[in-house]
Amino acid sequence: MIRGLANKKLDTAKKYLLEAGSVYIGCHILPDGDAVGSLLGLGRALRSLGKACTLACADPIPFKFDFLPGVQDIVANPPTAEEVIVTVDSSDVERLGALYDEAIFHSRPVINIDHHVTNTAFGTVNLVQFLPSTAEIVYALIKRLGALLDKDTAAALLTGLVTDTRCFRTGNVTTKQLRTAIAFMKAGASLAEITELVFNRKPVSTICLWGQSLANAQTRGRIIWTEISRDMMRKCGATPNDGNGLVSHLASTLGVDVAIVFRETDDGRVDASMRAGPGWDISGVAFKLGGGGHPKAAGCTIAGDMHTVRDLVLSEIEAVLQDQKAACHDQ
Ligand code: AMP
Ligand code: MN
Ligand code: MN
Repeated sequence: MIRGLANKKLDTAKKYLLEAGSVYIGCHILPDGDAVGSLLGLGRALRSLGKACTLACADPIPFKFDFLPGVQDIVANPPTAEEVIVTVDSSDVERLGALYDEAIFHSRPVINIDHHVTNTAFGTVNLVQFLPSTAEIVYALIKRLGALLDKDTAAALLTGLVTDTRCFRTGNVTTKQLRTAIAFMKAGASLAEITELVFNRKPVSTICLWGQSLANAQTRGRIIWTEISRDMMRKCGATPNDGNGLVSHLASTLGVDVAIVFRETDDGRVDASMRAGPGWDISGVAFKLGGGGHPKAAGCTIAGDMHTVRDLVLSEIEAVLQDQKAACHDQ
């Protein structure tokens, strides 16, 4: 956690970054707005200080972020000659996918900037704070660096804040996030443009996939789930990104405590994306199952067929709900 150590850790990160001639910044696989926004925002700020920056993501960037300047320059390769490595919004090195190269990561400073409770503190410096978005930690670092917050940097960071808070609707939003959003808007970022492009528009492939998935949604007690097979994705012309947002939609069902979307991956595994309602914490069960996340938004990817993984995850979630209900009554 940054709290208490905040300034010291920020200063250590600042020292590494200011001394480096070149910086490599990588974000997690299947990138969301916080990953892309933090990547672009930090990259622009460091470039304004004269640093050469490589920005990387192992997976393609969803087209809805195309409006952010610099998206086209993001590469998919691991670091090579850059002097310092920064990771954003990645709770562990597996989440970096093909960007992670053990030998390279162990040969130079790694600055781990993240907001997940399940972060494994894999960096030389760990700027890990349980804020609603990584973009806010990037903003704190940018201020500490004395770097420029121009319109495009602010738009990238506001995209991160807006996506991870689902437009300031998540339970962890306080006046702090609203004040940070005001700072980004004062720097020229358009909240209306970001919400329109990131939230209000969906391609036909998404509508097709959500339609089929919602039609097959099932409940067991206070858990709701649905499954996305590779066949469904093929029929809808969908990519894994088309499934983003579906789990939050399912979680809006009345009387539901946990929502899960199971999706078959191309490499024969099953990805479980999970959301929990107020009072529950599913980060621990996701971590136990080899994944990670936040108390109310977590996920894991498990080897096996759909039936086996679904039954395993459902029984683990049922157990967690029982335990937490019992703990709640004990208090
Ligand atoms: P998602 O459901 O994909 O929106 O992810 C919700 C949260 O869980 C995000 O903060 C992710 O970083 C985390 N998460 C999702 N899938 C995984 C996974 N396979 N491994 C680790 N963390 C994950
Ligand atoms: Mn995030
Ligand atoms: Mn993310």
